[in-house]
Amino acid sequence: MTQLDQLFDADRAHFMHPSTHAHDHASGALPGRIVTGAKGIRIEDHQGKTFIDAFAGLYCVNIGYGRTEVAEAIYEQAKKLAYYHTYVGHSTDTIIELSSRIIDWAPQGMKKVYYGMSGSDANETQIKLVWYYNNVKGRPDKKKIISRQRGYHGSGIVTGSLTGLPSFHQYFDLPVERVKHTVCPHWYRQAPAGMNEAQFVAYCVEELEKLIAKEGANTIAAFIAEPVMGTGGILPPPAGYWPAIQQVLKKHDILMICDEVVCGFGRLGSKMGAQHYGITPDLITVAKGLTSAYAPLSGVIVSEGVWDVIDKASQESGAMGHGWTYSGHPICAAAALANLDILERENLTQNAAQTGAYLLEQLHTAFDSHPLVGEVRGVGMLAALEFMADKDGRQPFDATLKVGPRVSAAALQRGLIARAMPHGDILGFAPPLITTRDEVDEIVRLAREAVDEVASQVLAPAASA
Ligand SMILES: *Cc1c(COP(=O)(O)O)cnc(C)c1O
Repeated sequence: MTQLDQLFDADRAHFMHPSTHAHDHASGALPGRIVTGAKGIRIEDHQGKTFIDAFAGLYCVNIGYGRTEVAEAIYEQAKKLAYYHTYVGHSTDTIIELSSRIIDWAPQGMKKVYYGMSGSDANETQIKLVWYYNNVKGRPDKKKIISRQRGYHGSGIVTGSLTGLPSFHQYFDLPVERVKHTVCPHWYRQAPAGMNEAQFVAYCVEELEKLIAKEGANTIAAFIAEPVMGTGGILPPPAGYWPAIQQVLKKHDILMICDEVVCGFGRLGSKMGAQHYGITPDLITVAKGLTSAYAPLSGVIVSEGVWDVIDKASQESGAMGHGWTYSGHPICAAAALANLDILERENLTQNAAQTGAYLLEQLHTAFDSHPLVGEVRGVGMLAALEFMADKDGRQPFDATLKVGPRVSAAALQRGLIARAMPHGDILGFAPPLITTRDEVDEIVRLAREAVDEVASQVLAPAASA
């Protein structure tokens, strides 16, 4: 047995992978891949094969792989001070500097940052803050959270509930009772027949109003949403959606939690998704792009209005009983600072806007009239192709055909990583923000080959019938 075989055996024996088919992995039916290194937008595997990572890991390695500047910042911080807690007012210089820098990236009106280690724990904090806020304000019934079908907010108990994907609820007794879901704002697939985009926005508003009326506005604490849905299928909202939704929330005194875990730190070609769409959140969640995944770090950004309530509460009842051992971890803060330095120095937000627009344009050119592709969509460095059995009749494929995963596998064979999104036949692109036009050309060329291959398998019988 080779060393590599032993490594794969041990992986199958003792490592419980996230989001992985348990039996297929353990039995070896799922081939698996050991990633051994990476540089720029490419990763390398155990066979020495390289792949263009057009999904930046899980839309997180925004500055690309192998940036030694970040590695050195982590090393220097680890040598100087690897850890101290931040309870009872303790601080370190890196986390102090980072907090100001994050506020500079955030939209107006944001005041403080609370730290965690993952997007999920940050969203758990969000919900606790919202409940705390309403208890302090003497509104103990105002506790329900509205999320959206196909939204993604994590895999915890409350956050898995907020996530509007059935596979995250099955066998877990989720969603918990206080979480309600409203319409996913994807016009192409969700709009009732005959509705134009503006009518669909009105429909989304109406459905939200109906849900609020049914539950009672006095029971709804917050609305949580991604500016652009990520895991749900990379779904930019229709024009006018955000102003219309926010008007409803303001009217009913419902807090807006903006989940910027994917959109934050440049991905849409703006500092955060909030600035891109003119959203004025009460609370913001950041994670992935904050460190480009060089170290795990998340943040809950609290607005002045919410902060005032927390400040007042402490004067009445002391410190808030909410803290993680690793809140504000200095090594992760050092990684985040080095990451923000690179984002700012290399104008990567601007590159996301410009090269992202080029990516979308090239995808339109390659796929608008392709028989397998129903919709080409995107914004900034986020894009997706949705495959349909009948694009004009908007008929999806039978899910058991696994058209999305097959296109993703065909791309992988050609050295391109583009993600089969978990819901629907959707191929997602979220390349690192350093991606160049030449690299975009290569991504689109390989994607075209992969789509053509699967089209020849799944469309040929229908065409000849
Ligand atoms: C990834 C993600 C999360 C969860 O982050 P984890 O670090 O995986 O816990 C939350 N919200 C959004 C929008 C995400 O994409």
